[in-house]
Amino acid sequence: MTRERIYLFDTTLRDGQQTPGIDFSVEDKIAIASMLDEFGLDYVEGGYPGANPTDTAFFAEKRTSQATFVAFGMTKRPGVSVSNDPGIASLLQARSDAVCFVAKSWDYHVQVALGCTNEENLECIAESVKAVVAAGKEALVDCEHFFDGYKANPEYALACARTAYKNGARWVVLCDTNGGTQPPEVRAIVEAVIAAGVPGHCLGIHAHNDTGQAVANSLVAVEAGVRQIQGTLNGVGERCGNANLVTLIPTLALKSAYNTRFETAIDADRLTNLTLLSHAFDELLNRSPDHQMPYVGASAFATKAGIHASALLKDPRTYEHVPPESVGNFRKVMVSDQGGKANFINALKRRGIDVAKDDPKLDLLISIVKEREASGYAYEGADASFELLARRTMGTIPDFFSLDGFRVMIERRFDSHGRIKIVSEAVVKISIDGQTLMSVAEAEGPVNALDLALRKDFGKYQHEIDDLVLADFKVRILNGGTDAITRVLIESTDSSGVRWWTVGVSDNIIDASFQALMDSVIYKLMKNRQLAGKIAAE
Ligand SMILES: [Zn+2]
Repeated sequence: MTRERIYLFDTTLRDGQQTPGIDFSVEDKIAIASMLDEFGLDYVEGGYPGANPTDTAFFAEKRTSQATFVAFGMTKRPGVSVSNDPGIASLLQARSDAVCFVAKSWDYHVQVALGCTNEENLECIAESVKAVVAAGKEALVDCEHFFDGYKANPEYALACARTAYKNGARWVVLCDTNGGTQPPEVRAIVEAVIAAGVPGHCLGIHAHNDTGQAVANSLVAVEAGVRQIQGTLNGVGERCGNANLVTLIPTLALKSAYNTRFETAIDADRLTNLTLLSHAFDELLNRSPDHQMPYVGASAFATKAGIHASALLKDPRTYEHVPPESVGNFRKVMVSDQGGKANFINALKRRGIDVAKDDPKLDLLISIVKEREASGYAYEGADASFELLARRTMGTIPDFFSLDGFRVMIERRFDSHGRIKIVSEAVVKISIDGQTLMSVAEAEGPVNALDLALRKDFGKYQHEIDDLVLADFKVRILNGGTDAITRVLIESTDSSGVRWWTVGVSDNIIDASFQALMDSVIYKLMKNRQLAGKIAAE
């Protein structure tokens, strides 16, 4: 039986950015777009080109290689022609494959927010879509407040959807912008839209989670005929969030209610990267993953020891609704864990490290990782550190140099103008081929000073780290209280454009930073010798 394709549209970088406390830098956006692209989503939407410097810089280049790269913006303003609308101009200039317009579809909002007539708004939709199609790009129209608008004035909401469709929009997306619509209402309204002449294979759903139904509303919309789902990673978004793609994707893939009839771009193989994707995104946001998130949470397949655990070991299906490894998660029980081992072997294989199932070094590595994760390390977000740890355990890292020690002094004083000044002075001592190299550097921050000192004299490797750039630095305090420990995550890149993440954990923030910094430098030396970075380079 042929299955119908459901298209997945990610709006983490735009709608997800509305989440309180989330503010993406251009670097963040580039990293997230490539994570989504690599994972295999159909559409990656990046924000509003022209609206602010971050988004304009982001859209200066195409940021995906597989996924359709989408710019978002308003339909043209009433009373202005398409060619004279600067907003439309920046959308057409953006290096995107597609443009997604947000259009009013609730007559009340047309009057109040746009201050134009219903007919003028329809003309804005029509002309904007036509301009995008004429520019050779794919057009999408997000019909804002569609469900509430439909309840207030069904004829007008339908007219908006039809206008978008008839003028060439590839997708007409029905948005539950306020997030209060219930599944039976979504079903009925989607059916009405299809009956009014917009076919389901051109319809999308954009649900918000204000009553905890965003996933349910997306699924019921698919049942009723829509073929595109818009959502975000981990369900981030304004107020209570958007539909969580991390929940929707495995549900569509693994549940027979859906997978017998539908398919997405995320096949069984890609699905095993889901947990990693979800956790890497949280690391990037510098927040703890939700342990109870469906499928990917640390507790999603955790069973406390006892009758459940022993029954679980006899037959995992007794207590698990899907196999944890299908989404790249782990079964957690207090006994030896075969699923975990297979996952490790896979993770190592993907990094070009072959290890036999019965190699004692593998058991050693697993116990080191578990011990370190219990003490605060997070390797999901630090692929380079994980790879180095694995290679160290296997004994395949050359002795590039050894660290003899470092020292940092921080001085707070007044300068000659009476202003407070903080100066950090760092001394780093390393040995290369039996020769000791000691360097001193000054900077405002202690980590910066350490970085400068390390690079000042790196002996025969000096030129090798010239293009190493520390792109981002995230600090998280774990456990709280006076005995809190600090985890530092560093994102690095070099002239090849490859990015890698390293982690350090210590009860001292500078030590944690230095560990992550050292890992980054060693990884760079490995990478220069084609000894590491298979994943990062893919
Ligand atoms: Zn939204």
